[in-house]
Amino acid sequence: MTDFARTRKLFEIPDGMIYLDGNSLGPLPIAAKARVADMLANEWGKHLIKGWNLSGWIHQSRRIGDRIGRLIGAPEGTTIMGDTLSIKVYQALAAALDLNPGRKIVLSDSGNFPSDLYMAQGLIGSLGRGLELKVVEPDAVEDAIDDGVAVLMLTEVDYRTGRLHDMKALTAKAHAAGALTVWDLAHSAGALPVDVLGAGADFAVGCTYKYLNGGPGAPAFIYVASRHLETARPALSGWLGHEAPFAFDLDYRAGTGIDRMRVGTPPVIALSVLDAALDAWDGVSMDDVRAASIGLCDLFIREVEGRCPELTLATTRHGHARGSQVSFRHPQGYAIMQALIARNVIGDFRAPDAIRFGFTPLYIGEEEVLGAARALERIMKERLWDAAEYQRKALVT
Ligand SMILES: *Cc1c(COP(=O)(O)O)cnc(C)c1O
Repeated sequence: MTDFARTRKLFEIPDGMIYLDGNSLGPLPIAAKARVADMLANEWGKHLIKGWNLSGWIHQSRRIGDRIGRLIGAPEGTTIMGDTLSIKVYQALAAALDLNPGRKIVLSDSGNFPSDLYMAQGLIGSLGRGLELKVVEPDAVEDAIDDGVAVLMLTEVDYRTGRLHDMKALTAKAHAAGALTVWDLAHSAGALPVDVLGAGADFAVGCTYKYLNGGPGAPAFIYVASRHLETARPALSGWLGHEAPFAFDLDYRAGTGIDRMRVGTPPVIALSVLDAALDAWDGVSMDDVRAASIGLCDLFIREVEGRCPELTLATTRHGHARGSQVSFRHPQGYAIMQALIARNVIGDFRAPDAIRFGFTPLYIGEEEVLGAARALERIMKERLWDAAEYQRKALVT
């Protein structure tokens, strides 16, 4: 059994705060502070440029990619770090489209995160070969997979509602129709068991600042199925993805294996934070995390529905059909969330009307769930949200 009392001690959460936003930005892993200080002082400070070789900075993207790979069911040498998730979406979709040149449709759903759709729109615009992004409702995806689809591009867990797609079944259906798949695991990696190999995914991408606690702006990852590793064409053909970066050739030749998905210089400091953050997963069973997360979400739903009848559940009640988050809808959702945050219960708001709470068993238990439900009950019963200060929208919600 995973010892969640142990993992909880690994994170810095201010006293009195109930932090239910680890699905947006995970908390600081305490060990990261010393790790970064050491990296700055003893690697960058002492070695300077020699650090690329002496401290292994050049291998970090690949080594940490393999650590993430173990959390998503990816074999060694198929996952690599770098850039932001939006960039990784672009890379994966560009490569997938290239591998399926005869078709015109990129199929996605309205539950996808806007940036993924925007990147697809941008890429399609640049390619200028009559491609079309088709966006259907999440439950219409399966029926929309046909022999016109080049690439099925989905986020496994809907950022707003928490609805979970069946990655294995949809991938099988896509393959049967001759389409390739790009899966975004932003709300899956570190939240629930993922098996990209078992599901047969062609490409997968994800960020590391949500459930993986890598810190604001932490680098993203990309997975490429082994069968595509030598044929996937890197659209972002930066020098570190070149077969021989230090030959300084004038012409690009894609590197071998997953290294071709590197673009430019990796964020070494951010990667050292992430490396420390990933230590928290040693000895943790993802099945235990899943069971605990379903329990916490179920409890939150029960408590909030019992206490706050004005709120409408936006997430499925079926634990196995959702990710690790719960959302409720209310026309005053924004103000309600601001009132909660003012009382040190941290969730977030997703337009137009969803208040969203992430449940992360590594550092959240039943006590926090009950505390949050009680705070929400008071805000609703006493209309505490109805104050001018809670109506003012900040840029980041
Ligand atoms: C969080 C998230 C992003 C954010 O992308 P960045 O480039 O890291 O800002 C993109 N897609 C999905 C599905 C997300 O959940």
